[in-house]
Amino acid sequence: MNVSYSTRQREAILDILRRADQPLTPGEIRERANQDSAGIGLATVYRALKAFMARGVIAQVEIPGASPCYEMADRGHHHHFICQHCQRVYDLPGCVRDLEALAPRDFQVQRHEVILYGLCSNCLER
Ligand SMILES: [Zn+2]
Ligand SMILES: [Zn+2]
Repeated sequence: MNVSYSTRQREAILDILRRADQPLTPGEIRERANQDSAGIGLATVYRALKAFMARGVIAQVEIPGASPCYEMADRGHHHHFICQHCQRVYDLPGCVRDLEALAPRDFQVQRHEVILYGLCSNCLER
């Protein structure tokens, strides 16, 4: 009985990440989980995230200066915007053209990261 209960909680956590249109911190995941079904603790969220990470289902988004947040691993290539006021991380679909042209001609670029910093529309309205 305990097992199916925790399976349901994990499914709920994964569902939140699936529906989210931006990476979420463990705290945000817990907040959203408790809107549907109360009683999901932060420790449960962390345990579930660890398990999903190990299975490669979700990915951690690491941004210097932001707390770790998580998104589905199958989102495809994209980048992030971090609001310097509310610290929320937003998805930016797509990529930048000709980014690799920044590297010297005889270098081989294997991957890149682009992070935009600024203020989100919510924070600008205030
Ligand atoms: Zn903001
Ligand atoms: Zn890119």
